[in-house]
Amino acid sequence: MTSQTIPQAWPADVLFRFLTVVGATVDVVPQPTRALPDRHAAVCRGCEASYLTSVGVSYDLKDWAQTHSSNCRALPRPTA
Ligand SMILES: [Zn+2]
Repeated sequence: MTSQTIPQAWPADVLFRFLTVVGATVDVVPQPTRALPDRHAAVCRGCEASYLTSVGVSYDLKDWAQTHSSNCRALPRPTA
């Protein structure tokens, strides 16, 4: 049996979080602009790739996050 560490708390703006194969995350977050108040993004914290949608959290947005997290091998930059 393997163990997995899940952070205690997510950043407040993270709506969905997908774990990549190397332990980075792909986070779905709101990214509203004045012209697109319902814009959301899926952002990979490993390679910084992102996918944007102007219509909220769509199936396409979560599907991109799921697929990207299954394939991305980029590690996040150490913070300390
Ligand atoms: Zn990535």
